[in-house]
Amino acid sequence: MIEFKDVGLVYPNGTEGLKNINVKINDGEFVVIVGLSGAGKSTFIRSINRLVTPTTGELIIDDENILNYSSNKLRMLRTKTGMIFQNYNLVKRSNVFKNVLAGRLGHTGTIRSIFNQYKKEDVALAYESLHRVNIAEKIYNRADELSGGQQQRVSIARVLTQQPKYILADEPVASLDPPTSHQVMTYLKKINREDKITTIVNLHFIDMAMEYADRIIGMRAGEVVFDGPVSEVSESTFEEIYGRSIREDDLRGGAKES
Ligand code: ADP
Repeated sequence: MIEFKDVGLVYPNGTEGLKNINVKINDGEFVVIVGLSGAGKSTFIRSINRLVTPTTGELIIDDENILNYSSNKLRMLRTKTGMIFQNYNLVKRSNVFKNVLAGRLGHTGTIRSIFNQYKKEDVALAYESLHRVNIAEKIYNRADELSGGQQQRVSIARVLTQQPKYILADEPVASLDPPTSHQVMTYLKKINREDKITTIVNLHFIDMAMEYADRIIGMRAGEVVFDGPVSEVSESTFEEIYGRSIREDDLRGGAKES
C-alpha cells in the first residue's frame, strides 16, 4: 500500500510541486492522475520511487516511510517500482531483448550484469514478457528501428521482466497517436488485472482516463482536487481540475500536445 500523509514538495527554486497531499492507494488499484500541464502529476508519481524527494510529510510504502531511505533501501524500492516514461527510455542502439533483460538489473548482481550473464529463468521471463505485449517478433531488432508504440510495448515488457509490485507510468501515451495509445493503455490495464500490480498512470486527456481508470485523482496547482471512482466524475469535477468546464481540447484528438 502507498500512503501520502501531508506530503509537500518545494523545489529548490521555490516552486511548490506538491501541497498537503493525503492519498491512500490500495494494492491492485489502477489509478489515473489527471490535470493540466504543471499540476504536479509527474512530481506525485516520481515521489513514489524517489526520483524526486518530498520536503514535508510522510510517504509510506509497505509500512515504511520512504522519505527516510538510505541508498541501499532506495535500490530496493526502485526494484519493486517499475517505471514507464513518455519517451520510453530504451537504450536505442541495443536490441529489444537486451533492453527487456535490463528489467532484471535490480535483481542481478553487478558482476553478472556487467558480463551479460543472465540466468536462464531471467531469459525465459524476458521472452514471456515480450510475448505478453505481442512484440516478440522484434526481439533482435535495435530499439531505434521500432515505432513509438512498439517501443512503448518493449518498455512495458521490460517492466514486466522486472516483476515489480508497483507500476508508475508518467504520460505513457503522450507521444502516441490515438489507436496506439489505446493499445498501450489496454496492455497496462490487462497486466494490472492479471498480475494484480498496483498501477498509477499520469494522463493528459480526461476521456482516456475515464475509459481505463478504476479511480481518478485530479490535480491542480500541486493539490488533489478530486479523488474518487470514475462513476463520481461529473461536470463540476472538470471545473475543479481545469478551472473551467470541459471542452474539446481536454479530449483526445481535440488538441495538440503541449
Ligand atoms: P505535471 O506533471 O502535472 O505537468 P509537474 O509535476 O511536472 O507537473 O510540475 C509541477 C510544478 O513543479 C510545475 O510548476 C513545474 O514547473 C514545477 N517543477 C517541476 N519540476 C521542477 C524542477 N525540477 N525544478 C523546479 N520546478 C519544477
